[in-house]
Amino acid sequence: MAARAKAMQAAGVDVISMSLGEPDMDTPKHVRLAAQEAIDNHWSHYGPVAGIPALREAVANYQNGVAGNAIPWIGDDVLVSAGAKMAIFNAIHAVINPGDEVVIPMPSWVSYSEMVKLAEGVVVPVETDFENRYCLTPEQLRKVLTKKTRMIILCSPNNPTGSIYTAAELDALVQVLRDFPDVFILSDEIYNELVYQSSIIDTHSPITFSHFPDLADRLIIINGVSKAYAMTGYRVGWLMSKNKALVSACIRLQGQMVTCATMIAQKAAEAALAGDQECVASMRNIFASRRRLICDLAADIPGMKFHEPDGAFYLFPDVSAWGTGDEVAERLLEKAHVAVVSGSAFGCPSCIRLSYAISEEQIRNAMARIKALLTNY
Ligand code: PMP
Repeated sequence: MAARAKAMQAAGVDVISMSLGEPDMDTPKHVRLAAQEAIDNHWSHYGPVAGIPALREAVANYQNGVAGNAIPWIGDDVLVSAGAKMAIFNAIHAVINPGDEVVIPMPSWVSYSEMVKLAEGVVVPVETDFENRYCLTPEQLRKVLTKKTRMIILCSPNNPTGSIYTAAELDALVQVLRDFPDVFILSDEIYNELVYQSSIIDTHSPITFSHFPDLADRLIIINGVSKAYAMTGYRVGWLMSKNKALVSACIRLQGQMVTCATMIAQKAAEAALAGDQECVASMRNIFASRRRLICDLAADIPGMKFHEPDGAFYLFPDVSAWGTGDEVAERLLEKAHVAVVSGSAFGCPSCIRLSYAISEEQIRNAMARIKALLTNY
């Protein structure tokens, strides 16, 4: 959709793209300066496969400071990769053998399933409910776990739904997982800095699986600098695990693929984690006010069914009042010149995903176009 929107824009059509999965802000200045300094200071050689030791330390310190963290992380637990995407790829390929089952609650980010298939694993999609904000329930989880289950992949705050598991919901899932000790838990926490739901912020409610020390040996935490610091193109992300065999397998795998993440980008990521976190807070505030705006405008479209997202930068309305997500997305692009992503891309065909990583003016214009089209559908 993003590519089609770009092609239409190039042909002179005024398309507003709500299809992107990345912050529209500039990378903070001190991070850019660190990248420039890294070039001038000759960070131009191969580095250790697992990442620059100072960055691994910085990642461990970062996670130790996350609200609710109860596992003492050290640099050795961290593998820095070329983006969180590669970290996830490493973990899946290190753990999954042909025929192993991987539980993925739907809707979900599309790459998990594709990576599992590449590893010849079996994707076990679990349909979740609108009524439960598309969060997996302990009952739904218990039903699909078998002797063959080797991994569950959870993402909170979630792409595409924006939902966040509450502490109580996480706790309930963990109680089920305790009965299945052979299951690895891959917790994608890439949006953990983009949280707006005041009940979660006010109570410092833990939204990280590193709240559960008894799971440490089978826990894989995924994060990176892409979303929190507007650094998607730098390609730096990481996995963390207390399971030494897993980290070592991932290091061997990565060593045969890319060696290490780009050294200059790693130095920039180090500056991002070590520097003033005001830049994160200010981006979060910008997203929070855009979120308020898009929710208010969406609420003004009769028939549009949605939950206010708790985090990330997506609204995920159910559009079944008008048709399938595919049909509505197609019509929005062709007739209203607004690019959105159909929920079918995430395993939820009745929805569309609207990214609000665009300016408030663009949000206003886009939502006016969407409303005009849908009210005369
Ligand atoms: N996980 C989720 C849920 C994402 O949305 C994305 C980016 N779209 C990633 C991982 C990958 O992030 P990175 O840029 O660090 O590879």
